[in-house]
Amino acid sequence: MTASNPPIGLLAEITHRCPLRCPYCSNPLELTRAEAELDAAAWARVLEDAAGLGVLQLHLSGGEPTLRPDLEELVAAARGAGLYVNLITAGVLLDGPRVRRLKAAGLDHVQLSLQDSDVDSADRIGGFKGGHAKKLAAARHLREAGLPITINAVVHRQNLDRIERTVALALDLGAHRLEVAHTQYYGWAFANRAALMPTPEQVDHARRVVDRARADLRGRLVIDYVAPDYYAKYPKPCMGGWGRQVLTIGPDGRTMPCHAAHTIKGLAFDSVKDRPLRWIWQNSPAFEAFRGTDWMQEPCRSCPRKEIDFGGCRCQAMALAGDARATDPACSLSPLHARLHALAREDAATDAPFTYRRMLPKDRLPEAPPALRAVEDA
Ligand code: SF4
Ligand code: SF4
Repeated sequence: MTASNPPIGLLAEITHRCPLRCPYCSNPLELTRAEAELDAAAWARVLEDAAGLGVLQLHLSGGEPTLRPDLEELVAAARGAGLYVNLITAGVLLDGPRVRRLKAAGLDHVQLSLQDSDVDSADRIGGFKGGHAKKLAAARHLREAGLPITINAVVHRQNLDRIERTVALALDLGAHRLEVAHTQYYGWAFANRAALMPTPEQVDHARRVVDRARADLRGRLVIDYVAPDYYAKYPKPCMGGWGRQVLTIGPDGRTMPCHAAHTIKGLAFDSVKDRPLRWIWQNSPAFEAFRGTDWMQEPCRSCPRKEIDFGGCRCQAMALAGDARATDPACSLSPLHARLHALAREDAATDAPFTYRRMLPKDRLPEAPPALRAVEDA
């Protein structure tokens, strides 16, 4: 099946470098080094191509995108191409002058991440002492510059007990939107599953807090909630369906249907260094692999929800079932679903230390937990 629609959004991971070391980071275990990054001229060409293809929104991400001194150039190029420009940042490098330069270059919106509402816990989770205080200062600079702020709060067992305070902090920081997102277990997060998995009680509590805050703060703060897959009944329509709405370009130009697609063995990703973006979107075998519904196995193939959730997440199917074509085990119709629930409870009861994210050579990368089938067969 070929792409019938243009993509709406482009996630540009312009660097994998980051001063923080979050154990839940969705970046690949093998991070791209600075010398392999596309330069500003290459990005400007890609952004022009993206706008020509129909992309409306650009999300500048990483790693930490503000580590690139040419970020203002990229923002200006995107704005010049007519894109809405959103910056996803940890904020620890954003001072007043930088914020003003980015605003002047055409930045429209900022998503600022918080590791926790408690300063010591936030700095421990991010693996960066003093980081939380710098984020609070960054929020002030963004507010003063008149840039709208969304707070991104990735939640897990180690910060969920303070979720009420996180909501209050988002309000204090002047955010108009808060995204409470349960950790998605790919990349470094998958390797840290036992340190991060919440208990069922924490998940229930979080849901109640979010529901109450949504009602109490209507008109003041919009709260998005990304539910935890491992405790779900049905999976999310991951990325709105593979190759249907969004695309991700990594620091070195490799272009993927999703930011975690690098975890799927056997997929080769075309690069914007070698191919036009339009060709990649329309023809790249990696984009074609799970487009539409023809690739599905049972129970998805004959399921009435297959055009609603598209069988869930391919990366999660790969990680948990060992097969990217399998039904996402987050689905209650998956034969692995009961095992997934049991595994979530086992992980939640395990006191594991963090494996912090960092650049490592291939032979020293942390080992990811085995797929569920392998556990069952053992
Ligand atoms: S999740 Fe943490 S380590 Fe990963 S890019 Fe974001 S701030 Fe950096
Ligand atoms: S069987 Fe497949 S299509 Fe049906 S609900 Fe589960 S994941 Fe979705």
